[in-house]
Amino acid sequence: MLLKDKVAIITGAASARGLGFATAKLFAENGAKVVIIDLNEAASISAARSLGEGHLGLAANVADEAQVQAAIGQVMAKYGRVDVLVNNAGITQPLKLMDIRRENYDAVLDVSLRGTLLMSQAVIPTMRAQKSGSIVCISSVSAQRGGGIFGGPHYSAAKAGVLGLARAMARELGPDNVRVNCITPGLIQTDITAGKLTDEMTAGILAGIPMNRLGDAVDIARAALFLGSDLSSYSTGITLDVNGGMLIH
Ligand code: NAD
Repeated sequence: MLLKDKVAIITGAASARGLGFATAKLFAENGAKVVIIDLNEAASISAARSLGEGHLGLAANVADEAQVQAAIGQVMAKYGRVDVLVNNAGITQPLKLMDIRRENYDAVLDVSLRGTLLMSQAVIPTMRAQKSGSIVCISSVSAQRGGGIFGGPHYSAAKAGVLGLARAMARELGPDNVRVNCITPGLIQTDITAGKLTDEMTAGILAGIPMNRLGDAVDIARAALFLGSDLSSYSTGITLDVNGGMLIH
């Protein structure tokens, strides 16, 4: 019970096979009261219900400040505190550099980078007042190795932006005992790439993974539990690679 009675918000956690929902499940098993925030209200509510009693499902677009503020208002009204925030919502697009248009840039950067900023800003006053909190940001190995897996250069840029933002937040929030860390997943089997990866692409990717398997969502959930709980009590500003050895540096 590493998160007993802690309130943990996880964005983009309504997708049943996704990293966010796997994290929500593991957090709930560890005693947390979990708040699932995703685009579709019915999906968020149903995902939260599937975790058991005492959890909350809310709809918000993480890139929309008013929706984010309204959602955090509901969290505070119900629980009165926020202990963990997992900035997980994200989208990707397999585009080549010269094919990236303004709408592609805006869509991908908005969810991962603006969403991480807005969600963090919404909980920081509460965490500061509590003098405790943990923010976990889901970046990607694409940020570190310059893509080459699935997402285009704008996705790599968004996820590299998340690394920089998280490190700077860690520096600013350390004095308030609010920790901020990143996870850089390798290729994990979820709906983000479902049906879009050919067998040939998968074989090529596997050839570069020493552990010779793609990741499971629970591999990321376990890393999020480490960073979200007191197991990582003296870690802030770190980047935790969870990639089966795809990138060793
Ligand atoms: P997924 O598509 O299964 O889940 C993403 C969720 O985010 C969905 O439920 C979606 O509805 C939600 N979402 C999208 N835009 C949103 C918005 N504006 N506001 C709120 N919610 C929104 O994807 P996943 O594979 O579980 O990815 C989760 C995170 O992990 C993403 O940030 C992704 O970039 C990152 N990531 C995934 C992999 C991988 O291989 N699966 C690798 C590295 C990083």
